Amino acid sequence: MAYIINDDCVACGACEAECPVSAISEKDGKYVVNADECLDCGACAGACPVGAPNPAE
Ligand code: SF4
Ligand code: SF4
Repeated sequence: MAYIINDDCVACGACEAECPVSAISEKDGKYVVNADECLDCGACAGACPVGAPNPAE
């Protein structure tokens, strides 16, 4: 399992700083989660002002 950042992302960068394993990076003006590194901790969701990171189904 991993979190996925949806299109609501406004590229503020807050989640990148909160991720304990640095699984989030900026790509083409949006932020993305590296699913192979994500621990499913939810810290990114807690930091995001627009609720863009959500657990993958
Ligand atoms: Fe990083 Fe946790 Fe978000 Fe996964 S759920 S991207 S490990 S902050
Ligand atoms: Fe995008 Fe939310 Fe991360 Fe900001 S905190 S870069 S809006 S996913």
